[in-house]
Amino acid sequence: MIDIIIIGAGTAGLTAAIYARRAGRTAVIFEAHAYGGQIINTPEIENYPGIANISGFEFATALYNQATALGAEVKMERVVAVSDNGAAKLVRTDKGEYECKAVILATGAKNRPLGLENEKALVGKGVSYCATCDGMFFRKKTVAVAGGGNTAIEDAAFLSNYCEKVYVIHRRDAFRADAKEVDRLKGRENVEFVLNKNVTGLIEDNGRLCGVEVTDKFSGEKTVIDVAGLFVAIGQAPDNTPFANVAALDDGGYIKAAEDCKTGTDGVFTAGDCRTKTVRQLTTAASDGAVAALAACGYIDSL
Ligand code: NAP
Repeated sequence: MIDIIIIGAGTAGLTAAIYARRAGRTAVIFEAHAYGGQIINTPEIENYPGIANISGFEFATALYNQATALGAEVKMERVVAVSDNGAAKLVRTDKGEYECKAVILATGAKNRPLGLENEKALVGKGVSYCATCDGMFFRKKTVAVAGGGNTAIEDAAFLSNYCEKVYVIHRRDAFRADAKEVDRLKGRENVEFVLNKNVTGLIEDNGRLCGVEVTDKFSGEKTVIDVAGLFVAIGQAPDNTPFANVAALDDGGYIKAAEDCKTGTDGVFTAGDCRTKTVRQLTTAASDGAVAALAACGYIDSL
């Protein structure tokens, strides 16, 4: 029987695997997409203690290599259900069933869509949720970024390096993003802030995005901005519904757990952005991974 199954190979999950292996426990990580989680799309990380500057891809790859070199196994399978049979937990994936003593849910969160009528149809045809993945398709073109958090500001800075013009469309005039980064972006000549406005429509031409309709929050006035691309960066939403039988969820769908990373089910722990918390950073994901793994090891010792 596997000691610890970790669901999700992002920063929290990979850190949990490092701690589990160093504690002498077998650890298998299940990942549905690719290792690294959200950070893999961040061009530059400058706020991880001890590392002044690193790309998200380099960071995630180093973490992955560290975990696997220590003996953690990564299986590219989507977990569809977890059931609690007391001392044994059953983890069902799209490829098989696995038994383990403890589970760590480190499922992260996914990009939140704007929810506009033709948004889905325009993905890959002008609408994107990942500037580092798709930005190069918009070289020398005009694009917009929707959002006012760190992701939106980072995306806009990245795109302004090679797009002709970048609009930052935000529904308020205050930002969640770090003030230093907002100020740095404001200094760029090809960046224009469109504030107190919501993106309310996606305008298309021959099945491709050609503009966005924005509506002023106060006056209700609608205007159209011609853009070839729209990068939606309005935060994330978790997807923990398959695990609601073993971990209570809050109103936003995040797993209810405090700093000890314990869910209401013995032997089921959670770590990272999928957990109810106020600060979702690389540092807090890594911290959760360590806490959850050590808690899982303590639980196994007590069996
Ligand atoms: P976020 O911080 O939650 O920001 C989301 C932004 O989108 C907010 O400005 C929000 O507006 C706006 N928004 C939300 N729903 C909207 C809607 N329906 N329509 C229009 N606008 C909407 O998300 P994030 O930027 O993706 O960041 C997520 C977490 O990762 C944060 O903790 C962030 O600090 C962290 N992160 C850190 C780094 C870094 O440190 N290098 C990089 C990227 C992300 P309001 O402000 O009005 O709510």
